[in-house]
Amino acid sequence: MGDDMTYKLEEYSILNVKSYRLLETATGEYWYPLSLFLRKFLFRNNNLNTYRDNEIYNKYMRVIEYDNPDSATDTKTKAWFMNTEGIFILLQNIKISNSGSARERVSKEKYLAATQNFFGVVSNNPQDYIGYMPDLSNYDVWSIMCLTRDTDINNNTIWKRCNNCGFYYPYNKKYFMENSGYLANKCKQCCNLDFVCENKRLQYLHNHNGLDLIYQIYLNDKDKIVEELKKWLSEGGI
Ligand SMILES: [Zn+2]
Repeated sequence: MGDDMTYKLEEYSILNVKSYRLLETATGEYWYPLSLFLRKFLFRNNNLNTYRDNEIYNKYMRVIEYDNPDSATDTKTKAWFMNTEGIFILLQNIKISNSGSARERVSKEKYLAATQNFFGVVSNNPQDYIGYMPDLSNYDVWSIMCLTRDTDINNNTIWKRCNNCGFYYPYNKKYFMENSGYLANKCKQCCNLDFVCENKRLQYLHNHNGLDLIYQIYLNDKDKIVEELKKWLSEGGI
């Protein structure tokens, strides 16, 4: 099955790990070599029967004979492939196993988050790491100010849930303390340190007791902003 169809091999990478997929030229559908995908991005050596015998997944799978770019010989290879729809369901439901060291687990979670992000998948399971910007509506105002003005945040940003407050922040030194090369599990705010805002004016207000004013700026009510600005000035803000 599938041998008479034409596929075009394409390379892609997630977090600097390169892999390949096949583009089915007739349909524009992508097919991913399943065991390679599981091994490279999800650190799994699953027996493919787990998926082949599962009716949720098997309809998205097929055997394809192709020129394996990793093979030293010119002979064709046959392997099981899964299409984007199947990979999508797999990434929604996969859970990271508890095996291995804490550091290995972090690595696995980061790759899972990045892979989910690559496919635009939001997990059905609670995760310590995610690859997309979380809903900020419940965040404190200063966090929102810092996050929405952080020009380093992009589609590749990995977000980690703080072990203390439970909110997700970009997993880097701006939001998590660094101790001898490792980032802490608690966000800076939970370590009694403030995030730094890229907007210099907001940061200045923050440094000079301007939190009420910042809050009005966040609410974007002009009259209230002016009122709060006068108050801040009269208290010697500048
Ligand atoms: Zn926290």
